[in-house]
Amino acid sequence: MALDADTLSQLLTTLEQFVRERLMPLEAEVAEQDAIPADVIADMRGMGLFGMTIPEAYGGLGLNTLEECRAVQVLGYTAPAFRSIIGTNNGIGSQGIVMDGTAAQRAHYLPRMATGEIIGSFALTEPDAGSDSGAVQTSARRDGDAFVLNGTKRYITNAPSAHVFTVFARTNPAETGSRGVTAFLVDATTPGITLGRPYRKMGQKGAHVCDVMFDDCRVPASAILGGLDRLNRGFETAMKTLDRGRLHISALAVGCANRLIDDSVRFAVERRQFGQPIAQFQLVQAMLADSRAEAYAAECMVLDAARRRDAGEAVATFASCAKLFATEMVGRVADRAVQIHGGAGYMDEYAVSRFYRDVRLFRIYEGTSQIQQTIIARNMIKAAS
Ligand SMILES: Cc1cc2nc3c(=O)[nH]c(=O)nc-3n(C[C@H](O)[C@H](O)[C@H](O)COP(=O)(O)OP(=O)(O)OC[C@H]3O[C@@H](n4cnc5c(N)ncnc54)[C@H](O)[C@@H]3O)c2cc1C
Repeated sequence: MALDADTLSQLLTTLEQFVRERLMPLEAEVAEQDAIPADVIADMRGMGLFGMTIPEAYGGLGLNTLEECRAVQVLGYTAPAFRSIIGTNNGIGSQGIVMDGTAAQRAHYLPRMATGEIIGSFALTEPDAGSDSGAVQTSARRDGDAFVLNGTKRYITNAPSAHVFTVFARTNPAETGSRGVTAFLVDATTPGITLGRPYRKMGQKGAHVCDVMFDDCRVPASAILGGLDRLNRGFETAMKTLDRGRLHISALAVGCANRLIDDSVRFAVERRQFGQPIAQFQLVQAMLADSRAEAYAAECMVLDAARRRDAGEAVATFASCAKLFATEMVGRVADRAVQIHGGAGYMDEYAVSRFYRDVRLFRIYEGTSQIQQTIIARNMIKAAS
């Protein structure tokens, strides 16, 4: 349900203030410590940020896609690690339950996800099933009223602090593609689950990712997301969840681009060479202008795709177009930002060097740029034939 204009504007203003006054001053410390301070997480919980997209009936803010994208764009103005901690509860960790969960599953998980009391993670990727995500090999063997999970999930965001995993496992061994896959809601304390050590990443310090291993992990049939009717239909849930998730990442990319551009303009106006601010040089102006134009184009795409989704249109192609363009765009913008900063842009004292590493991930997860291209082209060809 859409918020009224005043409430939305108040939310965005409060969020902007929180980003600028509370989060931005902590960016360097978070990168240094590889951790987000507990009091910041408490503030985020108090503001309802863990439940932005969870329906109001379950204690969330109930933002529609457009409102979510506008809020995430504001959050994107600071280090993406802050967004990552609330990202899975608002996106891939909760939306499967919102869209396809049973009434009992929604009532059990969503209110506590909305407050941030529990963290949900999305466990699809495996060592041998990345872009080819329908090829998951983690098995869920039926044993009486239960299912027994075995396998390894790779690079799972927020897994070190997760309380519940949405695990995609093969329930039909005769089917090697996406059709034999079921989604299970598995509590992190279930015997048979172990976590790998958190990965040391290129960027986004403060956001944590690890592998999750299932060794004869026994769950009741009631753990199937959506109940027994959705046996072997988990991949559909994953794809629907990712449609919305891709718009979320696109909005985040636009927010990061806006920050990189503002930092670049400020630097270009202050830094003097050849007796004048470098902002006076037309070659520098070209970089600024290209970044502004591309960020604006991405913003228009994201907001249009979000509006279409809220109107009930099928948006798989639009979501992939937005993710492809917005995440590639922010890569170019970050590169230009470093260039405009010269040597300073290579130094950790300047946020642009950190953002340059942070935004690299956006072109990889929730479907690489090449996978977005294949989705867009496949849908075009299907529509034509
Ligand atoms: C920090 C981080 C967090 C993540 N969080 C999660 C998470 O929470 N949950 C989760 O399930 N996963 C998560 N992932 C996994 C992520 O979604 C995958 O890494 C991504 O989908 C790519 O899979 P891969 O790494 O196996 O690369 P691969 O699939 O092996 O791809 C390698 C290269 O081949 C290209 N390629 C592959 N197939 C094709 C094709 N058909 N056509 C053209 N090019 C192709 C790719 O585009 C890429 O350039 C995360 C990853 C990272 C790095």
